[in-house]
Amino acid sequence: MKVPFQDLGPTTNKVKSEFLKKAEQLLDRGRFILGEEVLEFEKRWSAYIGTKYCIGASNGADALYLSLIACGIKAGDEVITQGNAYNASVTAVLRVGAVPRFADISADTLEIDVAKIEPLITAKTKAILPVHLYGQSGDMGAICAIAKKHNLKIVEDCAQAHGAEFSGKKLGSFGQMNAFSFYPTKNLGAFGDAGAVVTDDELLYKECLALRNLGQVAKNDHKYFGTNMRLDPIQAEALSLKIKFLDEANTARVRAGKYYDELLAKSRSEIRPVSLTPKATSVYHLYVVILPQGADRTALQRKLSEKEIETAVHYPTPVYRQPFYKGRRDACPITDSMAERILSLPMFYGINKEQQEYVVEILGKAL
Ligand SMILES: *Cc1c(COP(=O)(O)O)cnc(C)c1O
Repeated sequence: MKVPFQDLGPTTNKVKSEFLKKAEQLLDRGRFILGEEVLEFEKRWSAYIGTKYCIGASNGADALYLSLIACGIKAGDEVITQGNAYNASVTAVLRVGAVPRFADISADTLEIDVAKIEPLITAKTKAILPVHLYGQSGDMGAICAIAKKHNLKIVEDCAQAHGAEFSGKKLGSFGQMNAFSFYPTKNLGAFGDAGAVVTDDELLYKECLALRNLGQVAKNDHKYFGTNMRLDPIQAEALSLKIKFLDEANTARVRAGKYYDELLAKSRSEIRPVSLTPKATSVYHLYVVILPQGADRTALQRKLSEKEIETAVHYPTPVYRQPFYKGRRDACPITDSMAERILSLPMFYGINKEQQEYVVEILGKAL
């Protein structure tokens, strides 16, 4: 049996014929930059997340960058993120000239460990940037309390958590400016690069609209230093169609996630799934397991691959250990040890029970 890591086919097929019609209409209209298609998706996405405003952007990395600029984060400021942050979360901080600080993660949830945040706060700290990895979040209640106490902004990286909630509220509605990626493999994915920022702040919304469009507040009136970070209308069309199936696709992922949990518990293997943060729901962007200490992950992945099971690792090298990163490193022993033990199992809309049973069976044998 073949089990791919990803399969975009089932969600693509749901909108394919309608998308082709929309694309044809777009070509006939001949307006290819911003416009009503982008505005329409922005309305839909802010309504879905429960924020007042949304600014469509070119991709998730730019959405994070836009969020940080709009929050006034600048050279010399410090932004607290987490050890296992994605590359783009950290480079966004570097792009505004700020200094990323790394809080270690919880060994159970692999989300930011809120107890590690306050010790990193200095007079220069301006924001906390939690990265909601794998489909859930850390303790957003505690993060909001810390931010309030120290007068810090929150910028959420929601690129892996479309539709997930904390305490009944959607992720992306906690911080001042929050970023989404619609990279094709995300729970809501475009047919190319796309991203968005969501916010409740009208002034920052207006500033962001200008920032993503060369800093223009009106034609040829460049009030801000801005670059081109616009969302393409053709991607906005794709997203407006796919958003209708997001809850259905997320529900199917949750069902598959719970089934993996059940199978792993039954198999009594030493492999354990990532735990959920209390009060958090997960949309299972990824299904990540933690291997026993000392397990040979490379050999394990090779054995799985011989049985036609594709796996991945998110991420094998913490960003502060990547060759490009020359900045300050905070000690994150749990991040370092977990980077060697995590494994992402096949997870996508359309994975079936037989495939999941096969994955867990082979995984148990291979270990
Ligand atoms: C995908 C992703 C991004 C970047 O999104 P792009 O659209 O690829 O720029 C940022 N953060 C996290 C956590 C991601 O998973």
